[in-house]
Amino acid sequence: RIARAADGLYGRPAVSFEFFPPNNEQMEHTLWQSLQRLIPLQPRFVSVTYGADGSTRERTHDIVTRIQQTTSLTAAPHLTCVGASREEVLDIAHNYWEHGIRHIVALRGDPPQGASVYTPHPGGFPYALDLVKGLKSVADFEISVAAYPETHPEASSPAFDLDYLKAKIDAGAQRAITQFFFDPELFLRFRDRCAAAGISAAIVPGILPITRFPQMQRMAQRCGASVPDWLVHRFDGLDEDADTRRLIAAAFAIEQVQALQRHGVEEFHFYTLNRSELTYAICHALDVRPVAMQAVSA
Ligand code: FAD
Repeated sequence: RIARAADGLYGRPAVSFEFFPPNNEQMEHTLWQSLQRLIPLQPRFVSVTYGADGSTRERTHDIVTRIQQTTSLTAAPHLTCVGASREEVLDIAHNYWEHGIRHIVALRGDPPQGASVYTPHPGGFPYALDLVKGLKSVADFEISVAAYPETHPEASSPAFDLDYLKAKIDAGAQRAITQFFFDPELFLRFRDRCAAAGISAAIVPGILPITRFPQMQRMAQRCGASVPDWLVHRFDGLDEDADTRRLIAAAFAIEQVQALQRHGVEEFHFYTLNRSELTYAICHALDVRPVAMQAVSA
């Protein structure tokens, strides 16, 4: 469509949406409602996370296959190395392929609850690179991997982390989705470093619409994402004011994605936390609209 960056108008970016498997009926209802709301935006894919210790294996599988088989969406399960042997992981992958799943988000995985340090399963894939190679030996999956604009907390150095990302791409991953971040500069500097390291695959920013600030702060602390003081200040005093919080969250995320778009970012991944409202609004601001509506307005 419109591609006149000089006038502040950009082409329609590609988007993808991430969900987690619900663990009760109410949450399942919310998930399907959110999916229904977001389907008309025609995301490139929707992904479903995998519990830290493999605990959501069945639920991830059920949701992903249901999305793939009952909607027009391309569903991509997350798959991790944690708590399973290579054979078990490859069995899951085979099974996905048989159910028509062609895209996997391949990750090492977080240590299970209670464990602070990651220890590879004795007979398992130790790291995401090994998993990518294993998946490629099963079938020609499209593979997305994780990337860290602020460096993975366990990496021995930023350079090691970057080399490791390159190895995952060279092993066959098509795209890297980043950990969430708030300062667009962090992403842009990281993208430059990726380009300088010879990584040509898409580096897709992971956008976290802030639904609950304290919850976000806990997540950020766990994964090593920085939360700038100016962002804390924006949400200050809104703990009991959900309406204003939502407006501020939408305004902030729209600023963030538009800043990225001005710098040529054409693909965005949203950590929806199974809610559609903020993601839908941010997509609207990016000119990602229901396809029927676009046809009318074009
Ligand atoms: P890897 O790419 O294997 O590497 C992690 C780090 O370890 C690397 O950055 C590297 O510096 C270091 N490393 C690699 N190899 C070695 C080695 N041989 N020796 C020493 N250090 C090494 N977690 C879940 O449990 N379930 C999910 O569904 C999930 N989804 C995610 C989706 C996205 C988009 C992102 C960004 C993260 C997700 N995570 C998920 C979190 C992820 O599992 C953690 O961040 C985990 O700690 C690292 O996973 P990885 O795939 O980046 O690991």
